[in-house]
Amino acid sequence: VSIAQTTDRAGRLVNLLGETGVDLMLVTDLVNVRYLTGYTGSNGLALLGPQTRVFVTDFRYVEQAAEQVDQSFTRYQAPLELIDSLADVLPDGELRLGFEPANVSVALHARLRELLPNRVTLVGAEDLVERLRAVKEPEEIGRIREATKLADAALEQVLAAGLIGRTEREVALALLDTMYRLGADRPGFESIVAAGPQGALPHATARDVPIGRGELVVIDWGAELDGYCSDCTRTLAAGGPGEEARSIYAIVLEAQLAGVQAVRAGVGGREVDATARQVIKAAGHVEHFGHGLGHGVGLAIHEGPRLSQRSEAVLEAGNVVTVEPGIYLPGQFGVRIEDLVVVTDDGCEILTSLSKELTVVG
Ligand code: ZN
Ligand code: ZN
Repeated sequence: VSIAQTTDRAGRLVNLLGETGVDLMLVTDLVNVRYLTGYTGSNGLALLGPQTRVFVTDFRYVEQAAEQVDQSFTRYQAPLELIDSLADVLPDGELRLGFEPANVSVALHARLRELLPNRVTLVGAEDLVERLRAVKEPEEIGRIREATKLADAALEQVLAAGLIGRTEREVALALLDTMYRLGADRPGFESIVAAGPQGALPHATARDVPIGRGELVVIDWGAELDGYCSDCTRTLAAGGPGEEARSIYAIVLEAQLAGVQAVRAGVGGREVDATARQVIKAAGHVEHFGHGLGHGVGLAIHEGPRLSQRSEAVLEAGNVVTVEPGIYLPGQFGVRIEDLVVVTDDGCEILTSLSKELTVVG
């Protein structure tokens, strides 16, 4: 059986090479290297073709690579600048060598051209590994489910101590600490804890400012566990919220439920976005929802497929995506509600277990 006929991750990548006119793929994006080989270090590259599976790292990672890298790969040790050794591990003959344009700078491309013999043609081959990564294996979904459970439990523990009077940074730090205590590798990203007007900034950073009574608090956080990320947002009320806050919250929740309802294999990412956006538009707030509805989550916190007005993705069973509409009223407050869901043939499974009703925390 030739390597090309296997259906493991590397085999599936090789099956995609034919349609791009690439003989051999150079993978330099470290998340993609991890996905294909299992290697988690900070310096490594992989070369894959119908008869080639090569992994290259430097002396610092030789032992780690021996433990982590799939046995189907031949491992090489190279000097720190791995690319300098590339010519030594290439097969003979004319070669169309694919590279990842999103991960290869103009400088690196020039260096490659200089190092490689003329028989090698460099071909930009976009998003090949990313396409594979977008459709999760059952084991990957299991890991994302566990990361989500951990993050959900962390928020519940942090909220048990209340919100009013704690600073945004204290709450963010408590979330971080609790996620580590519950066994996370690390946070999936820097937590957002944004109270009152700060919540109107979709990517606010936590401040040394106490959360006031009556403020809405947007909390967006996630855990990384066994390499896989979770992503969730809840908007909580620190004490009783006002009428306007309640009505905006109700609109966002309706949009979020409509979005989740629209998720199904075969539906376009643009369509799902439009379904949720329509609810916000009908309520007169479309200009206050400036970002896409959602994104894929996996080894990276933001990956394919996208749910947005410009998305060309068609959802497939096994995609894991967020559904996260928001309304942001400058100078007043913001509301965002985000769940993580697994796309199935007839709908989706919601991984997030936390209530989406407006919850008042003292
Ligand atoms: Zn998020
Ligand atoms: Zn998100």
